[in-house]
Amino acid sequence: MKKVVKFGGSSLASAEQFKKVGDIIRAEESRRYVVPSAPGKRFSDDIKVTDMLYDCYATAEAGKKIDDKINKIKERYNEIINGLNLKLSLDDEFKTVAENFMAKAGKDYAASRGEYLNGIIMANYLGYEFIDAAEVIFFNEDGIFDADKTDAILSERLKTVERAVIPGFYGALPDGKIKTFSRGGSDITGSIVAKAIKANLYENWTDVSGVLVADPRIVKDPQVINTITYRELRELSYMGFSVLHEDAIFPVRKEGIPINIKNTNKPEDEGTMIVESTCRQSKFTITGVAGKKGFVAINIEKEMMNSEIGFGRKVLEAFEKHGISFEHIPSGIDTMTVFVHQPEFEGKEQLVLSDIHRLSSPDTIEIETDLALLAVVGRGMKAVKGTAARIFAALAHANINIKMIDQGSSELNIIIGVSNNDFEDAIKAIYNIFVETQV
Ligand code: ASP
Repeated sequence: MKKVVKFGGSSLASAEQFKKVGDIIRAEESRRYVVPSAPGKRFSDDIKVTDMLYDCYATAEAGKKIDDKINKIKERYNEIINGLNLKLSLDDEFKTVAENFMAKAGKDYAASRGEYLNGIIMANYLGYEFIDAAEVIFFNEDGIFDADKTDAILSERLKTVERAVIPGFYGALPDGKIKTFSRGGSDITGSIVAKAIKANLYENWTDVSGVLVADPRIVKDPQVINTITYRELRELSYMGFSVLHEDAIFPVRKEGIPINIKNTNKPEDEGTMIVESTCRQSKFTITGVAGKKGFVAINIEKEMMNSEIGFGRKVLEAFEKHGISFEHIPSGIDTMTVFVHQPEFEGKEQLVLSDIHRLSSPDTIEIETDLALLAVVGRGMKAVKGTAARIFAALAHANINIKMIDQGSSELNIIIGVSNNDFEDAIKAIYNIFVETQV
């Protein structure tokens, strides 16, 4: 049994958190490959080390002195080293980091030091081998992750290493320069390592006991999802769930390796299993409900639209021309509505409208702003009759006007458009009807 264990920033923010992590790793022989993040927040107003590094590097780029800022970052690490009673000094490392900052080694190099230094501490604390991610994780000339090269080199390297710490979040470009993934990218590193060693399980340790059925900022103490499929998670992530980096799913998915989201502060909780497919029923008809505010609906009307071949393409061409991606396009006989992100659309609004006119000659175009989209997601919905009826009854009961409904034939999700103002109430109403009343 081989497991990759990735720990997020809050799990490694202090010596106390490191000790919990140490206990977790030592509790199971199979936890052999460890991917750490940089130290995160110790309390809500704290600053993540990654943000301190970005800030410090901006100061260096501006040609100003960075001594104070470097010392503050060093203090964060020394606090951990001392709290763990390690005989380790990062003085030389910090000297190099400061020199490279002044030599303008790049923003990505700067940010990556958070994980790099935390990895050195972790390896020292556990007695595991330290492997610099720059030697085993690769990007191509365009800065795109190079999965094939990485997999070949990383799997070869790990063949002979029983136990290792590989810092998350970064790798190297073909010229050796450091490149990071987008924020939260240590999740991706964990997934890549899991694929390379053909792990039985990828454990992703964080500060919540799994993926929640709804956003806890909207619903009080929402239930934890026991098992969720990759597809369901992708739908929910797209609509704002943020437990795991979106791109972390792809490497393990190809190998059929499940991901287990676990809570470092409550290791006894089962957490959430993210799997390819499962015969385990979800506890409720829905797996989760998520949503986002800030959409615009562009309503296009044209008599006899239904018989004009190519009308939809012409309309969408106007959006494509201006680099705007559409979210949904519900349509009627003589109407077509295009949902787009408001911030993406606002600045280009008039240009898009005149292109729609030029390309498709509609009768009228109307714009409705400040809309929210909700995704009710669940593999179980397919088998249950009346799910849509229950959703709409709950929304009607909560006095919420539905602006749009879209259900794909996969029946994995139902998308509902409401006004931004009704967004929170809509999420609560749907959660209540499926979870609180247990139907
Ligand atoms: N430390 C990086 C960040 O704050 C990457 C990570 O934690 O996954 O985004």
